[in-house]
Amino acid sequence: MGRVSDIASGIAAVRSWQEDLYRDLHSHPELSHREQRTAGIVAHRLDAFGYDVHTGIGGTGVVGLLRNGDGPTVLLRADMDALPVREASGVPYASTVTTTNSAGQEVPVAHACGHDMHVTCLLGAAQLLADGADEWQGTLVTLFQPAEKTGDGARGMVDDSLRDVVPKPDVAFAQHVLPAPAGHVGTHAGPVLSAADSMRVTVYGRGGHGSMPQATIDPVLLASMIVVRLQGVVSREVAPTETAVLTVGSLHAGTKSNIIPESATLELNVRTYSEQTRSDVLDAIRRIVAAECAASGSPRDPEFELFDRFPLTDNDADTTARVAAAFADHFGDRAVPMGRQTASEDFSDVPTAFGTPYSYWGIGCTDPDLWQRAVAAGRVSQDFPVNHSPAFAPVIQPTCDAGTEALVVAALTWLARS
Ligand code: ZN
Repeated sequence: MGRVSDIASGIAAVRSWQEDLYRDLHSHPELSHREQRTAGIVAHRLDAFGYDVHTGIGGTGVVGLLRNGDGPTVLLRADMDALPVREASGVPYASTVTTTNSAGQEVPVAHACGHDMHVTCLLGAAQLLADGADEWQGTLVTLFQPAEKTGDGARGMVDDSLRDVVPKPDVAFAQHVLPAPAGHVGTHAGPVLSAADSMRVTVYGRGGHGSMPQATIDPVLLASMIVVRLQGVVSREVAPTETAVLTVGSLHAGTKSNIIPESATLELNVRTYSEQTRSDVLDAIRRIVAAECAASGSPRDPEFELFDRFPLTDNDADTTARVAAAFADHFGDRAVPMGRQTASEDFSDVPTAFGTPYSYWGIGCTDPDLWQRAVAAGRVSQDFPVNHSPAFAPVIQPTCDAGTEALVVAALTWLARS
């Protein structure tokens, strides 16, 4: 990689507008599927950099294409949406935005997951690669997706016109800010983010008076037995070398202490790292629910509804090895291995739709000095607000520089002229 010094000098030219843009995006967050302002800024900048810009893909999705002769096609992706969280980070550019959500409720909005940083880094990389186009050849695709938080933004772009607009990429990349020292970039081959599935289960009993249980079928007891029995799925059915999480996050039944209700509803969340384990766990849930309903003499079949589903993020081993080597070359000891994360992402829906290998890495966003002091005091896990926390606030630098350079380095690993 002979372009490292070029990137290092070029980054100074984008840094000043990136920092202003980041603060602007941070104080103007938009909920999933409503990223109109952000998408407008993205499209305007890409156009100014000389990209062929396509807007309105899957709602507010934006694609910028830079065709630069024969060569590989590289796709770089950022997500744009924010969360219904009241920001309490204390930064001067903190969000005070509120909006009305789809249920008609007034909600606060904040970039509590750092997607504003992802947009800023990708726009910076887009300019650096456009300005340095004589250093590389091929096609660069920059993709800004809506609605990562709801798990359907990437799929929405695929189901719309994405594959008509974009040639099949040879490789695809995405990144996410994480609580780790800012300036660090972490890679991981293989499954890196879990698949996530939420399931709503409704079970039926026969309602009646609390003083006459013999005349009823109690769905509260039935649901309780299901909750207990489900604890055996991960501990007894998933191999000890595999990992899965099964949480019953919500359980609702009844209205009053002396009324046995007609039904109970459970909401479950499942996290897995392989498609096989994913289907095994979902099958086990259905089997246990059906068996407990039979055991209680339930008068009606249970109902299952899957929602908030995220695909597995499974980094291609060869691609990730190439990226990790390029990062080690560029970042030195700031290029680190990253463990599996239990979070989930819908990025992989894009490369999967094309049959393209991909790698997804993490970028640290915590003040490195604070991090060092916390490590010295043994308090890392308590000292830093994690993504989705109201107090989550990445330090702008060196987070922004590292995220921008990481995208450029990865892209040039495939595109640079030899
Ligand atoms: Zn996120």
